[in-house]
Amino acid sequence: MTWSFETEPDFQEKLDWADAFVREEVEPLDVLWPGLVFTPPDDRRRAVLDPLKDQVRARGLWATHLGPELGGGGYGQLKLSLLNEILGRSSWAPVIFGCQAPDTGNAEIIAHYGTPEQKDRYLQPLLAGEMFSCYSMTEPQGGSDPALFKTRAVKDGDEWILDGWKFFSSNAKTAAFLIVMAVTDPDVSAYQGMSMFLVPSDTPGVNIVRDVGLGGEALGEGSHALIHYDGVRLPTEALLGGEGQAFAIAQTRLGGGRIHHAMRTIGMAQKAIDAMCERALSREVQGGMLSDKQFVQGYIADSYAQLAQFRLFVLYTAWTIDKHNDYRKVRKDIAAVKVLMPGVLHDIALRAIQVHGALGVSNEMPFHGMLLGASVMGLADGPTEVHKLTVARQVLRGYRPSEDDWPSSHLPRRLAAAREKYAEHLEHEVGNL
Ligand SMILES: Cc1cc2nc3c(=O)[nH]c(=O)nc-3n(C[C@H](O)[C@H](O)[C@H](O)COP(=O)(O)OP(=O)(O)OC[C@H]3O[C@@H](n4cnc5c(N)ncnc54)[C@H](O)[C@@H]3O)c2cc1C
Repeated sequence: MTWSFETEPDFQEKLDWADAFVREEVEPLDVLWPGLVFTPPDDRRRAVLDPLKDQVRARGLWATHLGPELGGGGYGQLKLSLLNEILGRSSWAPVIFGCQAPDTGNAEIIAHYGTPEQKDRYLQPLLAGEMFSCYSMTEPQGGSDPALFKTRAVKDGDEWILDGWKFFSSNAKTAAFLIVMAVTDPDVSAYQGMSMFLVPSDTPGVNIVRDVGLGGEALGEGSHALIHYDGVRLPTEALLGGEGQAFAIAQTRLGGGRIHHAMRTIGMAQKAIDAMCERALSREVQGGMLSDKQFVQGYIADSYAQLAQFRLFVLYTAWTIDKHNDYRKVRKDIAAVKVLMPGVLHDIALRAIQVHGALGVSNEMPFHGMLLGASVMGLADGPTEVHKLTVARQVLRGYRPSEDDWPSSHLPRRLAAAREKYAEHLEHEVGNL
């Protein structure tokens, strides 16, 4: 029997340390330097950030999503999940712990598909936290349907020439390199005809046309780039994996990214519950504390139960990934977690806002960012609807159609079958009457 809901004491000690460290040392950075998480640090910020990263390394908690061969702890997804719940409280924490998206997914695919030269050039500095990267796949005319992608890479002697547009390429402006998905064979399906390229950001022809921000950011500010790749010349060594392998590589990358977002979402939602409970115990209305009002108690109970269910599902999925050591075998549950994630964060953030009254919707509390975050979770790495299709398809694989026009659970059919099965006993019963 291997089911257990307990954490090994050694790892629990690490989690306790991480919890206190994030609250005391890292969360202050969220209010001190918001929006600078993916900006390469200047000397002043380095003086604060580097010693914090050193402490994480000394505890063996740096880049825990990676195996020891790549400088990580090799803890696996279940332990990573417990740690990520803590990191999800803070936008700076993933960077301080060397496990921030989208670099984690990008590192994973270079580790998996890269040549030794590509690993030296891109992977090592990425893992050391020395550079940021960008994943450039979505296009202005199509995001969730890869069959609509138009960006082309054409062979010209021993070079590739890359042309096309990409949209919402996060962190392009601060990334040292971009991983670009392009059509290399338009005569086959998108699933076989696209390839991935490693493109240094300073390559001539990589033009960031504008940075797009999220709601609340001023026009022209933001970190999601519209990019025009304009005759970008790349050596053959820029190809990541084989020709036509982009879709398979993307699935490797996105599987991990999705479940890691879910782990961090637990931390963010827990933070909203913490705030909601504190407020309920602190605020008085109509002769009592908010915590005495049944509606508010309902908000708290619903939030607790909703998050507990989601957390168990995420932990179970992480455990299953560790068991199979292959994201593809856990596609159904990763997709189901992805479907639930926006709703859990949205509902809990909304209740936290309500309990805080006007202060809750103000820019002096973090909840509006969580609401936006919930919408982002329903889009980034694929929209909810598409993941529901995946879940349904995978669930349906476990079923067969009924033998004829009547369902197998149709009571007359079942009664007839039951009578046949126990015919001998039924005759005896009748005989005794
Ligand atoms: C904060 C953020 C960061 C991002 N970062 C990156 C990045 O770094 N790199 C990158 O390449 N992309 C990035 N994206 C883009 C993201 O991957 C796309 O937004 C996503 O794939 C959806 O594509 P789309 O926005 O073009 O929406 P569309 O494909 O136009 O879909 C719009 C809507 O149509 C509906 N829909 C779509 N397909 C179906 C279907 N089959 N059945 C029913 N309804 C459907 C859904 O409601 C969906 O939301 C990011 C997005 C966000 C919000």
